[in-house]
Amino acid sequence: MTHLTKNFARPEKAEEVVTFGSLDPSIQQLLTAAFQVRQRAYVPYSGFKVGAAFRAKVGGQIFTGCNVENAAFTPGSCAERTALAKAVSEGVTEFSVGAVLAYEPDVFTTPCGVCRQFIREFADEDIPIYVAQAIDARITAEEEPLRSDDPVLCTSIFNLLPSSFRTYRK
Ligand SMILES: [Zn+2]
Repeated sequence: MTHLTKNFARPEKAEEVVTFGSLDPSIQQLLTAAFQVRQRAYVPYSGFKVGAAFRAKVGGQIFTGCNVENAAFTPGSCAERTALAKAVSEGVTEFSVGAVLAYEPDVFTTPCGVCRQFIREFADEDIPIYVAQAIDARITAEEEPLRSDDPVLCTSIFNLLPSSFRTYRK
């Protein structure tokens, strides 16, 4: 054994899939906020809309973000980084929980590798991340965006990015 891995990111809880209806109302609110901001996604190239929301640890304010594409591709930003950059620019750097909403028919859309590292920057402790599917037809039909039997992946930044890089020098 070595002490050299003792500060590594290790998840507090294993991933699981639950129903939307079984979640705490504050988590349902966060997922709904991510669903709503997703409608603003600027995605003229891929058409792949993503919404994200993070709740501030102090005060509980929700910061939302959508993905923003660019003709030159590289300058684009994912929804998670949009949301976190908004929060940081408002003076908030500690988060209790996050949510990500997108839609692929047969798979949950989890944060990309770059966003995992970006979230990790603000995770002194593990941050739970809830991932659900956003069904656009419900918007046009003016239905509830998320239903009680919808599946939700409950993961966390340390599940998504274990043994991750961070500098311990401040
Ligand atoms: Zn990303």
